[in-house]
Amino acid sequence: MKRISILGATGSIGQSTIDLVARAPESYAVEALTGGRNVARLAEDARRLGARIAVTAHDDLLGDLRAALEGSGVEAAAGTTALIEAAARPADWVMSAIVGAAGLAPGLAAVETGTTLALANKETLVTAGPLLMARAQASGATVLPVDSEHSAIFQSLRGEDMATVERIILTASGGAFRDRPLEELHEVTVAEASTHPNWAMGQRITIDSASMFNKALEVIETREFFGVEPERIEVVIHPESIVHALVGHRDGGVMAHMGAPDMRHAIGYALNWPGRATLPVERLDLVRLGQLTFREADPARYKALALARRVMAEGGLAGAVFNAAKERALDHFIAGRIGFLRMADLVERAMDEDAAGADGAGAEITLETVTHADQVTRQAVDRMIGARAE
Ligand code: NAD
Ligand code: MG
Repeated sequence: MKRISILGATGSIGQSTIDLVARAPESYAVEALTGGRNVARLAEDARRLGARIAVTAHDDLLGDLRAALEGSGVEAAAGTTALIEAAARPADWVMSAIVGAAGLAPGLAAVETGTTLALANKETLVTAGPLLMARAQASGATVLPVDSEHSAIFQSLRGEDMATVERIILTASGGAFRDRPLEELHEVTVAEASTHPNWAMGQRITIDSASMFNKALEVIETREFFGVEPERIEVVIHPESIVHALVGHRDGGVMAHMGAPDMRHAIGYALNWPGRATLPVERLDLVRLGQLTFREADPARYKALALARRVMAEGGLAGAVFNAAKERALDHFIAGRIGFLRMADLVERAMDEDAAGADGAGAEITLETVTHADQVTRQAVDRMIGARAE
């Protein structure tokens, strides 16, 4: 029986994790589930799975959560501190699936217990990769990748020697606008950007896929997780989303990982690692697929990718600045205050201005310095567009 917790249980990754757990109730004891505003969903899942505690990130929703859990025996809690405490409760396996930099502190708290952390929250590695890895090493925690590309790399590397790895190739679907001319991207709507051709995901990562910010985050995530030099990481557009990533060795051999675009594969792999369980994902029919295609990720079109290179070159807190600026620009795009292409411009400007004083690889990466850089950068982005913080 594995004791598990799911941070961000009400989101897309959280719900896919629950789907797998609910199929084998005899194998899992659920410790904590956390969520945001959707307390009805959170309470229903906590009841169904017999969780010990359910936590909403919002203090004002504690009453609603308590009411929804009445008579269930599930403890209720709310707020940021409660979230971190829930993450630190003893568990064998913790899913980190909160979206954005908000996932950092709970993820770190989980890692400090020495648990196995299934890491979907890529922002943790982008903003504080060295910190996470150092804490994991100190506590003896295992960190497993859940992002599909990183799970694919991880699986392709099994039994291999990192010293023979020449290159890592991340595939990108190209998102909603892969076939739209660049000139038209000034005018695209939030609704259009929020539809993904292949994957069903939360709204924020779906828009990040269309802008290529998701792949930019993933390039940095690759660097932090696998410790490879930036120049060894490549990105290629692969519209079918069947090959999730490839690892090339010095003898010219390339290991590709393929599968249907369903996050339950990567989640299930992390849940059952080092073994493999039967998973309810579609099996590939190569003949029906017929062909798999690849094309260049045009640097003129995808400014986000160049910004990721800059983050890796700068090091230090550049990742925290980059991510915070991206998150805030995305807030403004979703709120209809700025156009789609303006997001990358704002991120670039935030990096130029460096209001957080993050410049230089020497900057110490702690939860405090990252949080400070994050807050200051969000304010800087608000100032740039003359918006008031919500
Ligand atoms: P989502 O928006 O569907 O769900 C996010 C979850 O986080 C929800 O439970 C929400 O309540 C919670 N949350 C949001 N803001 C919070 C806050 N401030 N404090 C605490 N909790 C908060 O997101 P998602 O698509 O499931 O993505 C989750 C993470 O996994 C992201 O980091 C994303 O980049 C990564 N990821 C997602 C996918 C995918 O297929 N959805 C694939 C790879 C990686
Ligand atoms: Mg991914």
